[in-house]
Amino acid sequence: MKALFGGTFNPIHNGHLALAGEVAEVFQLDCIEFLPSYQPVHRGQPETSPEIRKQLVELAIAPYPGFILNTRELDRGGPSYAYDTLRGIKADEPETTICWLMGADSFNSFPGWHQPAGILQLAHLIVCLRPGVELDKSIFPQNQLQPGDKLQDFGAGKIVFHPMQPNTCSATAIRQALSTGQPEDACLPAPVLEFIKQNHLYE
Ligand code: ATP
Repeated sequence: MKALFGGTFNPIHNGHLALAGEVAEVFQLDCIEFLPSYQPVHRGQPETSPEIRKQLVELAIAPYPGFILNTRELDRGGPSYAYDTLRGIKADEPETTICWLMGADSFNSFPGWHQPAGILQLAHLIVCLRPGVELDKSIFPQNQLQPGDKLQDFGAGKIVFHPMQPNTCSATAIRQALSTGQPEDACLPAPVLEFIKQNHLYE
């Protein structure tokens, strides 16, 4: 069982790494594939190019053997629909059970995604709680994992809520801090911060 962690990663931060690390351990995942979106569907095109966001992800995950970069959405170009991505991956690896990782804010908007029911036919969702975000548990209630059930016993379609150690890092807050010249070292891995400074990103 492996996980896909889609995101804009503009920039990748310690909240993403904490989420991936916890989930990998708790759900005993073989690997976590970080999947930077080319063109996020529910927001404007980020001012930072896909290539730069990819490089930041590479720098951040380099120290972690179980974390891998997946460039499928970057290679495909166009709007980065999770459903299209999952269909492609399932076609390539039909036997692999896939978990799609997201934070509570993403889950609350999940019914508005392209083909949410189709996504649940292809993958499980692991939803991590996020400080300041109230989880909407009325979304796909019939798919939510029941106490006593194990994710591993199902091929797809289950939603599990993971109460991760609260992490307040957010890319929006980081971009805001950097653009106003405030220090932002608490939420950024050192090599990512260094690359941002060297290339004058988010100034
Ligand atoms: P932005 O502030 O630009 O929206 P973000 O910090 O939410 O960015 P994304 O790249 O959009 O970062 O996030 C990818 C996924 O990681 C999303 O599903 C998001 O909910 C989740 N996520 C990001 N930061 C956290 C965090 N601190 N705790 C839990 N989940 C998080």
